[in-house]
Amino acid sequence: MSDINPITHTKSVPLLSVKGTHTSIGQQIGEAQKQAIRNSIENARVLIEAIQDDLHLSWEGAQTQASKYMPFVQERYPQYLDELYGMANGADVNINELAVVNFLEGVTVDALHLTKCTSLSVNEQNTANNHVLIAHNEDWLPDDEPDLYVVHVKVEDEPEFIAMTYGGLLPNIGFNECGIAQCCDTVYPQDTRIGIPRVIVSRAVLGAKTISEAIRRTIIPLRAAGYNHLIAHESGEMYNVEVSAHNFDILYSTEGYLAHTNNYLSQKMKALEDHSDELIHTRIRYFRALHLLGKTKQHSIETLEEILKDHVNFPDSICNHSFIDKKPMDREKTITSLIIDLTSRKMKLAWGNPCLNQYQDYEVAI
Ligand SMILES: [Zn+2]
Repeated sequence: MSDINPITHTKSVPLLSVKGTHTSIGQQIGEAQKQAIRNSIENARVLIEAIQDDLHLSWEGAQTQASKYMPFVQERYPQYLDELYGMANGADVNINELAVVNFLEGVTVDALHLTKCTSLSVNEQNTANNHVLIAHNEDWLPDDEPDLYVVHVKVEDEPEFIAMTYGGLLPNIGFNECGIAQCCDTVYPQDTRIGIPRVIVSRAVLGAKTISEAIRRTIIPLRAAGYNHLIAHESGEMYNVEVSAHNFDILYSTEGYLAHTNNYLSQKMKALEDHSDELIHTRIRYFRALHLLGKTKQHSIETLEEILKDHVNFPDSICNHSFIDKKPMDREKTITSLIIDLTSRKMKLAWGNPCLNQYQDYEVAI
């Protein structure tokens, strides 16, 4: 499969602007990214079939599982289900297959320990120009790397936002016109259940107008599981909100910088972590990121780029290359690396591993 995973990219990640109702923006994304959405469904199908003996789950069974999450979304967040239906319609794909892509972590009962993202933020106390900066490496299946895009969304009843996404996944990593940015890192709680999927919860955060509203949205009742949500505001307020299905903790930065990877940091949440002994790589990335963030109080976009390119503990480094000679469910790499300047409302994004690809500017006035 590595032949469909280009290591270097000669083009910039596509930027798509959509506007209208939730159904309409889904439809527009579906039409514009039809092939990428179809690819992501095919990649999910191939993955599930490759590991179906381990999971005792067929592709049809995965769709049945995914459909069980739908009533929870319909009850609490019908507008995001409208986006999914619009996307399915625009791309002419089956809604249940698209639901598998979006609810994949829940459908596979978190057997996919592959979302090894790293998120960072620094506020005006730690940047040379007093800006608030957020950075994120998205580590995921190499097969989805070609289907990356940036979306600028103006939806009728929510703040405008810019986010990165890929294939048929609802966008959730980006920033909005109220000066709120979010990065998500998968964590592994023991208390997962059928409920509102993580991707829906994090999509909702981009619709928040205040910090407290953003945090409230991460801990919505009847959620299926939880991410860590690194939530930063343009004022310099920055939080890690660690969430599971039934619990959460809010970690605040007093030093003016934050990092998070894929293990819980709060004592309360550590007690709920599944298979902690398998999460050594992520702890090493966390401490490495903290070490590098603490080296200077004069951070800039360039210093954060260097952190995101770091190769200590290669291939399970912050710049992740852990996909060669791995089993299908264990393959992962950095498929994009991004930096948000929340003060000037700009995003830079490298397609693929940032050690091999240039960062490109995405400037959209919001
Ligand atoms: Zn690298």
